[in-house]
Amino acid sequence: MHHLPPVGRSAEEILNELKNRKAQDTDSSGSRLWSLVYYHSPDLLDLAQKAYALYISENALNPIAFPSLRRMENEILSIVKSLLNAPSDAAGTLTSGGTESIFLALKAARDYARIQKPHLSTPEVIAPLSAHPAFDKAAHYLGLKIVHTPLTASGAADVAAMEASISERTILLVGSAPSYPHGVIDPIPAIAQLALKYNLLCHVDACVGGFILPFLERNGAALPPYDFRVEGVTSMSADLHKYGYTPKGASVVLYRDRQLRRYQFFVYGGWPGGIYASASFSGTRSAGAIAAAWAVLHYLGESGYKEAARLAWDTTQRIREAVHHIKGLRIIGEPQATLLAIGAEPPIDIYRIGDGLAQRGWFLDRQQNPPSLHLTVTAGHARVVERFIEDLRGVVSEESQYAKSSGWGRRLNRSLLRMGLAVLPERWVRSMARLLSRTAQSERPPRRTAALYGMMAALPKQGSVEKLVEDFLDKALDH
Ligand SMILES: *Cc1c(COP(=O)(O)O)cnc(C)c1O
Repeated sequence: MHHLPPVGRSAEEILNELKNRKAQDTDSSGSRLWSLVYYHSPDLLDLAQKAYALYISENALNPIAFPSLRRMENEILSIVKSLLNAPSDAAGTLTSGGTESIFLALKAARDYARIQKPHLSTPEVIAPLSAHPAFDKAAHYLGLKIVHTPLTASGAADVAAMEASISERTILLVGSAPSYPHGVIDPIPAIAQLALKYNLLCHVDACVGGFILPFLERNGAALPPYDFRVEGVTSMSADLHKYGYTPKGASVVLYRDRQLRRYQFFVYGGWPGGIYASASFSGTRSAGAIAAAWAVLHYLGESGYKEAARLAWDTTQRIREAVHHIKGLRIIGEPQATLLAIGAEPPIDIYRIGDGLAQRGWFLDRQQNPPSLHLTVTAGHARVVERFIEDLRGVVSEESQYAKSSGWGRRLNRSLLRMGLAVLPERWVRSMARLLSRTAQSERPPRRTAALYGMMAALPKQGSVEKLVEDFLDKALDH
């Protein structure tokens, strides 16, 4: 049990302990992580820290108490509106992250539908399989149903399948620009056209793309239209704390018109504490994240974002080209931005490649259906890309040797892999549960996870995976 110290400790002692603890984690400024952290440069980080610190105590809950915050918020919204080519009547709010932005867009759609289609008991949202789970999470909270539609071979939304799923219960269509798993931009014009045809709302999730696609375009990339230029797009989400390179806790949701935005607001007039009004989901809001976002936007400016986008793009192309020349590896789908998924052909097991890279100090997320490793390529990765490619080549060559060797265990592994790892014995499932629970309680990031993911993918029913992962969360948060 950990207790509150009976008497406070010295600031110096505490900071030392924090530094020691942090040293156990993966270094977030070393660009060895290919997800979670969007690292730009030490000078940007320094500015963001100072701006955050300046506003560490303020609270953005009340827009009247701190006019400087409201001004920053409005200026940030104005910048994002212009980046996403929103009409002048468009309006939005600053939120704590992509999940909140998506939650609010769905809440607005739901409450709008309550007026348009009051008879619906469970309104439906149609989203391609690649859409972020934040949609499923929001629907779970809001009493909506997500209807998932399949992807085409290139990894994009299958618009015909979306149309076939439209019913009188449908209220909103979703597209991603780009999708997180495969970095593919959904055919937004075709999705928005459907929305117009059936009189539905249409949300474009540019959480990860909102601060990179506009600058890739300015750098000359030929991208399909994905933003408010497309007629029929009614709302968008864009995260500042991703390719905006701002500290965590900053994202934007935008609506094509102010009227639609009103459906996301919440006001309660009966409280003894006064009339409570809030525009977004949070109550108390971090002012530090807003000030730091404002600072970073003005520090980088148009030229800084263009340069960051160029670095991330060139690095992405370098990795694609290298993967193209490594026998046994392939890029999944047809990515158009700076996110990639790398898959493998049998007998190579891509999760084992992930483990091999982890042993060399690179951390890539594992994905499923199909199995792949995920890379979110940022400006910071430009400095390390050649070392990464060298290690990737090394790991693949070791794995090819392993896959070729002829022990019976390896043969079994190989044939399991070819069978798409059919159903595994109960005993393996139990050992996976043990491994998961050990990982949950360990202080260090796990290195060997291929076995775990292989077994996860092999579990007979999706439901049993979800149950195991719930146990994992419960153990990881053990108080
Ligand atoms: C990251 C992401 C989200 C969720 O954003 P959070 O900031 O993690 O809440 C939603 N959609 C896409 C496409 C994303 O990449």
